[in-house]
Amino acid sequence: MVTAFNPSSSAEIRSLAADALERLGVAAIGTDGDVEARSPITGLPYATIPSSLTAEDAAIRAAEVFTTWRDVPAPRRGEVVRRLGELLRLHLDDLATLVQIEAGKIRSEALGEVREMIDVCDFAVGLSRQLHGLTIASERPRHRLTETWHPMGPIAVVTAFNFPVAVWSWNAALALVCGDPVVWKPSDHSPVTASACNALARRAATDCGIDPDVCQVVFGGAEVGRSLASDPRFPLVSATGSTRMGRELAPVVASRFGRSILELGGNNAAIVAPSADLDMTVRAITFAAAGTAGQRCTSLRRLIVHESVADELSDRVERAFARLRVGNPLHDDPLVGPLITQEARRLMENALDVARADGGSVVGGERMFADQAPEASYVRPAVVRMPAQTEIVRTETFAPVLYVMTYRELDEAIALQNGVPQGLASSIFTTDLREAERFTGPSGSDCGIANVNIGPSGAEIGGAFGGEKETGGGRESGSDSWKAYMRRSTATVNYSNELPLAQGVVFE
Ligand code: NAD
Repeated sequence: MVTAFNPSSSAEIRSLAADALERLGVAAIGTDGDVEARSPITGLPYATIPSSLTAEDAAIRAAEVFTTWRDVPAPRRGEVVRRLGELLRLHLDDLATLVQIEAGKIRSEALGEVREMIDVCDFAVGLSRQLHGLTIASERPRHRLTETWHPMGPIAVVTAFNFPVAVWSWNAALALVCGDPVVWKPSDHSPVTASACNALARRAATDCGIDPDVCQVVFGGAEVGRSLASDPRFPLVSATGSTRMGRELAPVVASRFGRSILELGGNNAAIVAPSADLDMTVRAITFAAAGTAGQRCTSLRRLIVHESVADELSDRVERAFARLRVGNPLHDDPLVGPLITQEARRLMENALDVARADGGSVVGGERMFADQAPEASYVRPAVVRMPAQTEIVRTETFAPVLYVMTYRELDEAIALQNGVPQGLASSIFTTDLREAERFTGPSGSDCGIANVNIGPSGAEIGGAFGGEKETGGGRESGSDSWKAYMRRSTATVNYSNELPLAQGVVFE
């Protein structure tokens, strides 16, 4: 569907951001700061902000503030997170506007991202009264054996461009209730959004009588991420981004015996079985593959369809993609906004060329609105029918490209689904209970997320989020992910008058 495109100017974007920041009460943007803010909506810079701290200064302050923050009772730490949740509710609209400007998201998804921050704050507040340890039966008389969880230390959080605030909040809300100060290095695509969220977190701390340096932000690219990774003052580095980034960062953290939580690239698939409800499946596939312009770590990239329904489903998905409104998220009420950079578009075009050379047939994928927004990258999402799972299909291309392959037996479909280096999200569309259970069981999907009758993207915060293999193995957000932000202490207390040794050892 070709729709009218209404371009934005940098002046318009600057004014929208300035108004939002004013209502947020956050230091204004200007034109003479040293951190450049760009928008994928135009593909151009729209303002600058002053750089904040250096990573070194932030580490010093975080280490200092930890010495008092760790002794604040966890439920009181939870009050800071509750206040943050209140401030996020109050400023939901303005933060969503900043997310739109810096990540190019459509309104509904930008609002959803801010709501996700609010959800995780609510979750963490409850958690602040439930950081339970264990009491374990001791083999020795009048001995008490316990495991307790203690604050770990300052946490460095490195985030990707595509969830410019939600991923920080998954880490920050949990780290704060766990007693850890947070130093955040956001993507260099989203300094303004990050600056606003961090300012709200600092305000929340101040409102609760807590040193605001429990939350700090440092700007910069890979070099700043590297310096946080190598700094022993951060016992934990939580890093979200490409597998390439994780491959560089993880050994640096490990070489100093730090811990990392890695949330890296995905290459997510959906299996469509003969019994699938195709109406529901087409809708789910379209959102999962084309939503967020294919720029979610959990975006659907591979469709593995039973040969009996492959033609019908592929035709329907191609028609659905052709009807998607692509456009300026600030004006056109689209379902698909821009790619983050021209480089991202070039990688998409290159992937489509390779897929064609591998025998794939491509529908969609064209560049759009190049005349009206020459520096931006709007594209029509692409469907590619592939004869086999070639190397390009096994590679994460961070754009709306959906490869379609066919299968005959479920074993073959599961082998294709698992036959990639990444292991983040997966799903099966089936009304056959045996297939659904097989897929989510031990010999089914090898991913961290395995869904039935919904697409692989759009996780709730209640479950632990993350993936296996080259996705990095980290878990964040809900369930017991909080344990990664604390250190475990096992304590044995002898309240007898004897000194019995474990395992019956005698040493008289
Ligand atoms: P990216 O890897 O280019 O950058 C991510 C962050 O890492 C940025 O803040 C960047 O400055 C920093 N960085 C880059 N190299 C570094 C290094 N050597 N040392 C330390 N820090 C470094 O990723 P991106 O383009 O911003 O985001 C897209 C990628 O992120 C995709 O691969 C996507 O799948 C992945 N992602 C994964 C998840 C997840 O939860 N698994 C979530 C969101 C995004």
